[in-house]
Amino acid sequence: MELNSMYEDELRGFFENKGEKPFRGSQLFTFFHDKKRYDIENSNLSDGAISIIKNEEINKVKIFKSFDSKLDETKKFIFKLKDENLIEGVLMEYKHGYSQCISTQVGCRMGCDFCASTKSGLVRNLTAAEMLSEVYEIENRLNIKVSNFILMGSGEPLDNFQEVMRFIKLLHDERGHNTSYRNITISTCGIADKIYELADYNLPINLAISLHQTNDFDRSALMPINRKFNLAELKKSLKYYVNKTNNRITFEYTLIKNQNDGKKNIEELYNFAKNLKCHINLIPLNPIDEFDEKRPSKLEINEFKDKLEKIGFNVTIRRELGRDISASCGQLRRKVEVK
Ligand code: SF4
Repeated sequence: MELNSMYEDELRGFFENKGEKPFRGSQLFTFFHDKKRYDIENSNLSDGAISIIKNEEINKVKIFKSFDSKLDETKKFIFKLKDENLIEGVLMEYKHGYSQCISTQVGCRMGCDFCASTKSGLVRNLTAAEMLSEVYEIENRLNIKVSNFILMGSGEPLDNFQEVMRFIKLLHDERGHNTSYRNITISTCGIADKIYELADYNLPINLAISLHQTNDFDRSALMPINRKFNLAELKKSLKYYVNKTNNRITFEYTLIKNQNDGKKNIEELYNFAKNLKCHINLIPLNPIDEFDEKRPSKLEINEFKDKLEKIGFNVTIRRELGRDISASCGQLRRKVEVK
């Protein structure tokens, strides 16, 4: 395993097994995750400890390109991986601090019809070390501390479950980045069997479900995962999740004109979500070349929101950030690759 994907106790064990003092593992852990550095030769490790890890793997991403929105404070980053693959990251600045969107895989195999990240399928999973270095590279470049993380870049986080859990725990470690679990959101298309597993970790993180349709026929056409775990299966897993964790779920609902913005959708949404502790986040569709659909008007979006509120839901409309730099899921990576 890459050294910078290891927990502190694993690094301590690693050095102990090589006949070194375990505290060298703690030194290396804080060098990676508190100081956010990789230049081991300049660390406070002894020469002996440095020679032990000289040939071990340390993995990181590099900022390849960055784009600043002229409309708001959003920035997009393209990271290059060691194997030359590209992934994306988005940084948003809010009054309460910085929020970063993290990629968890190169590409994605989930096949959602509206998403550019999946058009070439899954290339590979990212390691915890690579995900952490998405954070550290941006923080080091801009000299900032990011406080909120959303796993909503390219990839399906629950399809890379073990590495994503490792990433989250390392990010939370108080001797590392020290991020509160409450400031981490996992966004999934609805892999129900993994939602049970996530529930059993019982972490106070946020879980967001990309719902986007309200009945099995239409959702299966838009999101192939629904053919494996239909809405009834998904709901069962979410009930289990809420019972186990007492966390509130967020449903992400992209509004597509004449596709999922009708009266029938309100009724179906009510039947699906009425007994779940949840919040609905409406997202006006950001069109991409490969998905030829339109968004409803501002008035229609507000009416949809009002109707949901009237039947008792807690609803928000996602603020649009970085529209001029294609800040929605997967779009930028694709544009860079096709050039
Ligand atoms: S929306 Fe998310 S889960 Fe669906 S294809 Fe895109 S990256 Fe994958």
